[in-house]
Amino acid sequence: MSNSSTQKFVVIGAGHAGGRAVEAMRANGFDGAVHLIGAETAPPYERPPLSKEMLVASGVECPPMHPDAFYADKDITLHLGVTATRIDRETRVVTNSDGTQLSYDRLLLCGGGRVRRLDIPGGDLANIHTLRTIDDSRAIEALLRSGSSIVVIGGGFIGLEVASAARSRGCAVTVVEAADRLMGRALPAEIGDAFANLHRDNGVDIRLNTGVDRFIGDSGDSSVREVVTTSGDKLPADAVIVGIGVDPDTALADACGLAVNNGVVVDEFCRTSDPDIYAAGDVTYHFNPLLGRHVRLESWQNAQNQAIAAARNMCGENEAFAEIPWFWSDQFGVNLQMSGAPIAWDDTAIRGDIPGLDGILFQLNEESLVGAISLNRPRDMRFVKRLMTAGKSPPRDALIDEAVAFRDLLK
Ligand SMILES: Cc1cc2nc3c(=O)[nH]c(=O)nc-3n(C[C@H](O)[C@H](O)[C@H](O)COP(=O)(O)OP(=O)(O)OC[C@H]3O[C@@H](n4cnc5c(N)ncnc54)[C@H](O)[C@@H]3O)c2cc1C
Repeated sequence: MSNSSTQKFVVIGAGHAGGRAVEAMRANGFDGAVHLIGAETAPPYERPPLSKEMLVASGVECPPMHPDAFYADKDITLHLGVTATRIDRETRVVTNSDGTQLSYDRLLLCGGGRVRRLDIPGGDLANIHTLRTIDDSRAIEALLRSGSSIVVIGGGFIGLEVASAARSRGCAVTVVEAADRLMGRALPAEIGDAFANLHRDNGVDIRLNTGVDRFIGDSGDSSVREVVTTSGDKLPADAVIVGIGVDPDTALADACGLAVNNGVVVDEFCRTSDPDIYAAGDVTYHFNPLLGRHVRLESWQNAQNQAIAAARNMCGENEAFAEIPWFWSDQFGVNLQMSGAPIAWDDTAIRGDIPGLDGILFQLNEESLVGAISLNRPRDMRFVKRLMTAGKSPPRDALIDEAVAFRDLLK
């Protein structure tokens, strides 16, 4: 970028994407001013440990993304505990909750998502939590005491990781899921069924096709004591964790008139409908050239690599963010990985043993490989991801044959 030393980049959202973006701006040689605005008081960190390592034992800290000296060394100005409240695209000025204003030459939106809450009677009782931040994770960890009754609402990835951690701490755990299977928004029934068995085998009470009607508190201390399901069951609860999904945080983008549709709309170069404003991470609804469509993802990979691509493009590169989506989850020692984001498939092919939690399920559409979900096969999955990125669709027989190495299919 010409005369970059006189330019100013502002990043809204000091989470995973924001933290990686400012790092990439400097790594790419940008020597103008960089400002990172974050509503949380913690400097950027990655969130996966919040529902895993931090919950299985007391006193586990979430590592910051960068060493303390990083921001001063790289001359990056942090505005922590500060919320950006307005973007004026005419004057190119961001107004913040602390009354400050920051002008920008280029702006990057990394506001992530907002957890959905349950607006039902008793929803404001104590010990009902959602999980998004370090503070949420610490508060939940403090409630996972042996013998406590924990009710998890929502059988998606976050809820099930909390259930796994809570069982490992000796809690009695019930998962209440409105759909007829676990992780049903993202995964096929075979995987949901295998995980339902995994959780049941580990003592989790899984209630499918069940909603929540209300929470009942203890009149003494206003803490939750019972969850009343839509089937009328009363579940004892010392704590409730609500994991019912995340909505992209599009309020700022909406208010300043950027294109918004299931997230801030960006092209493959991470550009919004305003050429001076970019976006990355959970907040985006972005065009993925490998999938040939827009997609919204909530994943480590997307936060990390889309942010790096956005930063490079803000610095003057023209680099498409084009990766096959990838996500992982760990529950009861089983590593699940998924690659691809298929909307539809007309066939599945299985290598190994999905009910036995050791195999890969391939999703095929008109004989093209459009998705893969692996259980305890992380090494194989590295090659499967590369196959999918290269657009290769090996024959079905080869996919399911344990004797065929995925490495060889890449050749
Ligand atoms: C508990 C948990 C476990 C996860 N585990 C996995 C996993 O195992 N595998 C995987 O692939 N993915 C996982 N993810 C998903 C992954 O962490 C997210 O996709 C990633 O954090 C998204 O990064 P982001 O920067 O877009 O959003 P975030 O990391 O949420 O950061 C957004 C930041 O912007 C701030 N912000 C929002 N609006 C403003 C504003 N107006 N002004 C200032 N600041 C603002 C927010 O406070 C927040 O700090 C997990 C997520 C969670 C919550």
